[in-house]
Amino acid sequence: MKSVRGVVVGAGVVGLSTAVCIAENLPLCSVTLLSEKFSPNTTSDGAAGIVLAAEFPDILLERQRRWFKDSFDNLLAIAQSQHSPDAGVMLSSGWQIFKEVPTNRKPFWSDFVTGFRNMTDGELKRFPDHKFGQAFTTVKCECSTYLPWLEERFRKAGGRVEQKKVNSLQELSDSFDFIVNCSGLGSKQLVGDASVYPVRGQVLKVDAPWLTHFIRDGDGKTYIYPGIHSVTIGGTRQEGDWRLHVDKGDTDGILDRCSSLEPSLKKAKVLSEWVGLRPSRRNPRVEREWLQLQGRMVPVVHNYGHGGWGVTIAWGTALDALELVRQCLKEMPQQAKL
Ligand code: FAD
Repeated sequence: MKSVRGVVVGAGVVGLSTAVCIAENLPLCSVTLLSEKFSPNTTSDGAAGIVLAAEFPDILLERQRRWFKDSFDNLLAIAQSQHSPDAGVMLSSGWQIFKEVPTNRKPFWSDFVTGFRNMTDGELKRFPDHKFGQAFTTVKCECSTYLPWLEERFRKAGGRVEQKKVNSLQELSDSFDFIVNCSGLGSKQLVGDASVYPVRGQVLKVDAPWLTHFIRDGDGKTYIYPGIHSVTIGGTRQEGDWRLHVDKGDTDGILDRCSSLEPSLKKAKVLSEWVGLRPSRRNPRVEREWLQLQGRMVPVVHNYGHGGWGVTIAWGTALDALELVRQCLKEMPQQAKL
């Protein structure tokens, strides 16, 4: 019999990864996934889904390296397995280029991706405005395919799924023994976290099957990522901007900037345009606390605030969240212990 009831709030890439990790690793727990929105309507669905990262300022680098490595290894194994097309996860090789040589030429994740090296002068010749570049193979994870695949995996592990907006954690305390909060930008209201803010991103999908390599400007504002069915080009990073509609000026800017890096894009047909709000925070919040809810102490594990890197580190932070749930269970009164 399942002795402990847990709930995960949020069905983006962070919530689904966390729900799968808990359901597959704690078989004596019954796990429910509650979410206002599911694929294809989450922020994660529209992410370009390329696996690379920037450094968060106040989190031990060792922890960030672990998040990256655990995530990368998990996605690489999927990309190299028979599940790759069903999961929407593929290998992706290409170049990250810089107009000025960056102070740190070897990012913390460079040991984990495959074949990381500096670009040669010959390779850089096609990018005359850029002085420095890195070539490597990483993974691209297309969440509009990956999220339904994860949801299926969660159900197979015995998980229950329910569509519901949670207005306060109090609502959950009667029905569940522990709560995991993966509500992304929703944490602003749900747990009153004023430090969460949106960074608006607009991207286009274009038909350009001749492109096979990604190109990313190191400033993070211009990128071309070939995918399984189309090429994602972007983008924008507008802090504090809550607009969810497509902006014509942004579309023109994206087409202009991307075509200057890859002139053949002038021949590509635009298939769709999309806007999402990155759930940003100075650092992601991956920690636990005990809250007094409806007169009893309930453990709450938070896992949100991944900003522009949620697809990249979702699996790593999900494993941390699983460990935090385990610690909470050890501290629970005897009758609820696993
Ligand atoms: P979300 O996907 O927003 O999911 C949050 C979930 O919580 C939703 O299901 C929502 O309905 C639910 N929820 C919220 N509040 C409540 C509530 N009160 N009750 C019930 N449910 C609730 N990342 C990368 O790593 N690589 C990339 O290449 C990349 N490209 C990007 C490009 C763009 C244009 C954008 C916008 C983002 C990109 N990102 C990328 C970032 C990535 O999309 C996010 O970091 C990631 O999606 C965050 O996942 P999440 O699960 O935390 O949030």
